[in-house]
Amino acid sequence: MPHPIETLAFDAFEQFVQAHSGFRPRPGQVEMARLVAKTLSAGDLGKGEGLPQRAIAVIQAGTGVGKSVAYSVPAIVCALERQTRVLISTGTVSLQEQLVNKDLPMIADALLAAGIVERPVRVVLAKGRGRYLCPLKLQRLIGGGDSSGSDLDLEADLFAAEAAESGVAAPPRSSTGPGVLELGQLRDIAAQLAGGQWAGDNDSLAAPPEGRLWAMVAADRHSCTNRRCPHFHECPYFKARKQVAEADVIVVNHDLLLSSAGTRLLPDLSDSLVVFDEGHNLPEVAAGQFAAVMDLTRQKWVGQLASRLEKACRILKLRDAEHVAELCRPIHMTLQNLYTQAVERVDLKAHSLEQTLRFEHGVLPEGFREALVRLDAHGRTLSELMARVSSEMTLVIKEEDGGVLSPTDRQRIKDLYGAIGVLAPRVTQCVEAATLALEAGPVPKALWLQAREHNGFLEVAFHASPLHPGPLLLQHIWSRARSVVVTSATLQSCGGFDFFLHESGLGALDETQALAVPTPFDYAQQGRLVVRATASDPKQRDAFERESNALLAADLKHVRRGALVLFASRAHMNAALAALPGALKDQVLVQGQLSRTRLLEQHRQRVDAGQVSIVFGLQSFGEGLDLPGAYCEWLFIAKLPFAPPTDPLGEARAEWLKSTGKDAFGLLVVPQTSMRLCQWAGRAIRTEDDQATIVCYDKRLTGTAYGRRILAGLPPFGVVDSIEQALRHPSLATESSRDGSEVV
Ligand code: SF4
Repeated sequence: MPHPIETLAFDAFEQFVQAHSGFRPRPGQVEMARLVAKTLSAGDLGKGEGLPQRAIAVIQAGTGVGKSVAYSVPAIVCALERQTRVLISTGTVSLQEQLVNKDLPMIADALLAAGIVERPVRVVLAKGRGRYLCPLKLQRLIGGGDSSGSDLDLEADLFAAEAAESGVAAPPRSSTGPGVLELGQLRDIAAQLAGGQWAGDNDSLAAPPEGRLWAMVAADRHSCTNRRCPHFHECPYFKARKQVAEADVIVVNHDLLLSSAGTRLLPDLSDSLVVFDEGHNLPEVAAGQFAAVMDLTRQKWVGQLASRLEKACRILKLRDAEHVAELCRPIHMTLQNLYTQAVERVDLKAHSLEQTLRFEHGVLPEGFREALVRLDAHGRTLSELMARVSSEMTLVIKEEDGGVLSPTDRQRIKDLYGAIGVLAPRVTQCVEAATLALEAGPVPKALWLQAREHNGFLEVAFHASPLHPGPLLLQHIWSRARSVVVTSATLQSCGGFDFFLHESGLGALDETQALAVPTPFDYAQQGRLVVRATASDPKQRDAFERESNALLAADLKHVRRGALVLFASRAHMNAALAALPGALKDQVLVQGQLSRTRLLEQHRQRVDAGQVSIVFGLQSFGEGLDLPGAYCEWLFIAKLPFAPPTDPLGEARAEWLKSTGKDAFGLLVVPQTSMRLCQWAGRAIRTEDDQATIVCYDKRLTGTAYGRRILAGLPPFGVVDSIEQALRHPSLATESSRDGSEVV
């Protein structure tokens, strides 16, 4: 017997679809909605007795299924019935915008109009704290007060002093503080805020300040005194947080959701329904979130922190003042030592401004390891000292210190609280990176140095990352969430869910149910796949690129309207562009030449005007790009999208698998490439009326066993032998039509 809420949620979906005459019936959508209703009506929410019951659905729903309706309608009804909220997490800003600005308001209105819900559904977009203005910081900068401790001055001073110390050039800066123009810009946003034309989030500013200027006035956890702040009641961040707490549907991105797990920024996962859309990149985002990075280049902050802490301790008459210098000095020296050791290893070639140096098998050289041990120990002790000082400062800010301080000292403590707070993350980064790198365990960590030459200055960062995101997702997300749907157009690789379930950690949970719902597209009729074999092996980079670029240049002449060409590397894309004859070059729009929005606008305008328009793009264009009908009649795949050989995490994982006798290529590289290629191929057919030809220049797709595994995971396009055969398809001789039917 289905749960009554499941029945209500699914009935609501059916009612919604029937009321919406623009929708075509889609069996895949119905199947998905049924499983979403079942999953989100099950699972124990909140704090109960014993082990909570979980319900987890992993649903692959390709383009055209209409998955946002399939999950949103049942999820909203389940959330309202269960008196909770639904968190919808996405991988890209474009999906977030589509959900918040289009799909969810339309669904919420329709549910209310049909009487399916009794009150308006409240939808909000949750953003990280750093997206909001801190009015206190803004006031300090433009109000003529003492801004000597501001983030901008601090960062600029630190860098300049450090560069002078080391005798190398510092990256150019326009000034060491907000210049006249920048102050004007800040005054302008202050006026917009005061006049009520702006709510205080960076994304809604018509002309947002550039990153460095925004960082000076952005809200941050470490310098915020919360309710003690004089601006608390008009603070944009806290207003937004209140809206989030009251919402029925909270849209968020994977990064924010993962970084907020266990904090109060978002409602607790154990008490919410959770939907991950674009769930295919969740493991990758998790790998980034659970990694640690430590900047070895800038060390002057340690001295600044020591000076601020000492000042605070003296005002508060704390004995810790005596220990600050003896703790900070070895941290500074250790960071200098690590930087020197790192620089000795870096060998930037004349033509390369960047270098990645990976420590094989996660084994650090003895000197480097010893330095990290020292850093870890001193960093932890310093963190403890900072926590003690911070709680004493908080008492002063709350005015619970017995009133022993003079008004001047009280103000100085308030200022120092913020000034110390902006440096606290530096200590945390050091401790996190050192701890992760030194942590013993059966599986090594991926450890590497990233070096970059910037205006004659060598910047070096140390990275530490767990090898596998699955166990971390299990620990931080799946152990908390109880009713979860993970969906995407691509969750299978090589035709199965095994790889995604392993990567995400969900394979370890018996409650996980995986489903691939039927697509509404007839891929065999709508798409033709041609593999253009080259004489050279794709592994022989130069020869292969020369040959395949020539083939591509010849094939692009057949394009009559829109086309997309996807490359696995920027170097290949540039070489292919250079190989085009001039007239063809004029028809090409290259990723990076214009903003993504502007470039796609121009592409559509050209196609609408009857011109040929060809977009050249990389991996980020291979995901999420929606070019229906004439905008993408040809999809050219320059080479199979294997991960670049310079990916240190991928290399470390492959090395570990090999060292344990496993087939790293078959278990990791091939499934990853399969998922990426499925994403790329997904750009070709976007509606039930689309017709497209997919041309792949990598003969390994059909000529190797692993290539055939990858091919088996692609949509079942009709395979044709040659471009000529593809050209004889009737769709290329007639105008394609799009009937404009709506798919949400
Ligand atoms: S409450 Fe925090 S973020 Fe808001 S204005 Fe005050 S210090 Fe800034």
